[in-house]
Amino acid sequence: MKTDNKNIEPVATGNAAEDGTKGNIAERNKEMLTFTYVEKGQFALVRKPIPHIINPKDAIVRVTLGSICTSDLHIKHGSVPRAVPGITVGHEMVGVVEQVGSEIANVKPGDRVTVNVETYCGECFFCKHGYVNNCEDPDGGWALGCRIDGGQAEYVRVPHADMGLNRIPDNVTDEQALFVGDILATGYWAARISEITEEDTVLIIGAGPTGICTLLCVMLKNPRKIIICEKSEERMAFVRKHYPEVMVVKPEECKDFVMNQAEHGGADVVLEVAGTDDTFRMAWECARPNAIVTVVALYDKPQVLPLPDMYGKNLVFKTGGVDGCDCEEILRLIADGKIDTTPLITHRFALNEIEEAYRIFENRLDGVIKVAVKGN
Ligand SMILES: [Zn+2]
Ligand SMILES: [Zn+2]
Repeated sequence: MKTDNKNIEPVATGNAAEDGTKGNIAERNKEMLTFTYVEKGQFALVRKPIPHIINPKDAIVRVTLGSICTSDLHIKHGSVPRAVPGITVGHEMVGVVEQVGSEIANVKPGDRVTVNVETYCGECFFCKHGYVNNCEDPDGGWALGCRIDGGQAEYVRVPHADMGLNRIPDNVTDEQALFVGDILATGYWAARISEITEEDTVLIIGAGPTGICTLLCVMLKNPRKIIICEKSEERMAFVRKHYPEVMVVKPEECKDFVMNQAEHGGADVVLEVAGTDDTFRMAWECARPNAIVTVVALYDKPQVLPLPDMYGKNLVFKTGGVDGCDCEEILRLIADGKIDTTPLITHRFALNEIEEAYRIFENRLDGVIKVAVKGN
């Protein structure tokens, strides 16, 4: 376990440090503002030294725009045991590369980049198979803003930066790219592993931010019908407004609705992105025999898999934990106008207003879906 904030040393300046580090961070920026996990139940604005290159595979990114994810709230409430008190939180961000270590080849100072929620080595068994979430490196998987300092700050140190940073095309704005490294990567991965065809009726359970990102990526597959199940009136209205071709249904009417719409006794593909007490059961009950049920949701409690009840249904279950290795392709789709997540950004704040951003996001006030937090 490492935390950057223990290394209180001046940052290397100049363009060609002796260790091969390239880039420049001005002297005046020796300290920065961060949003920090102090202890269970408490995040706070804390000033820390700005990070510097520790490993030749690191990069330092100046965060220009970040966001708040439900996983940040899970850390705050103590439900992520591996989260380390004292770390800067935040794992959804875009920025500009300020410094790179001597072994970085894919990005250079000045590049605008997305930052992947997962840091991964690219070399172990899992990485070679595209299963980057299970990377065996000590920093592998979800480390940023959980086990090492994250991006609700002015700067972030990104390990394995050649893997986790992707250059943002010139015609893509920071707001358009903001969700590429986390919730949009999740939606893209979920749609990819669900093997959707153009003949399919697809049910998505949950129209929160990740549910909508999943919807956008399912739409790329052109299935015959898409049904989204959501209990919040506000979120139902959001889907109706922005994606009128999608059918929207409430949980209590979902099963009957799907049975009426689908041709073979249930949805051909179900993606469960809600994670409430009832939605796992709903997912497999709404699936037709031999369907694929992809579980993206993170549950608070164990779920029951009642095999006798589903005997003969021959379902295929795929379970969650994004392998975020398609960011370059996702950025290309955004640049081509095929994915647009900007309607999800309902509120904008400066970094020093982040406590208010959390208050609005956590309590779902004022029609919030996602917030954008401007770094510097
Ligand atoms: Zn997240
Ligand atoms: Zn790896």
